[in-house]
Amino acid sequence: MDLVTVKTFDSYFLANIILGRLQSEGIECYLKDEVTVTIDPILTNAIGGIKLVVKKENAAWVRTILRGYEEEYINAATCPQCGAHQFNYIAKPGVTNFFTAILTTLFGSYAVAPEYVYQCGNCGYETERLPDYNSNETEAGKV
Ligand SMILES: [Zn+2]
Repeated sequence: MDLVTVKTFDSYFLANIILGRLQSEGIECYLKDEVTVTIDPILTNAIGGIKLVVKKENAAWVRTILRGYEEEYINAATCPQCGAHQFNYIAKPGVTNFFTAILTTLFGSYAVAPEYVYQCGNCGYETERLPDYNSNETEAGKV
């Protein structure tokens, strides 16, 4: 059985929510490197996060389903600054922080992907993380 990675996660919780949702739709899928990332989160970037793997013949179909989930997720997110539901996921190249600087030193630049941020289409508010599924938490302190 050939397995291919269709998505990676740095969050154990989100990975399991997506896994459960796909499985409840009858899709055979598994998480790879879940234990490693959970025990030692600093390894997340080095090993590429928790990988959602599916049978090769289902990969295209599952990717389409995941895109649907993602759109649903982004559309449901509320901007903590203006209350709009208009987030876009955009690349923000050339931005580094303390953590990526350390990873680059330790593992070389291949360990650090370009940074992506969610940007509010209404007011321009940017955040690295949207509130998690089924959560009302916001990042009000981070502007
Ligand atoms: Zn906004």
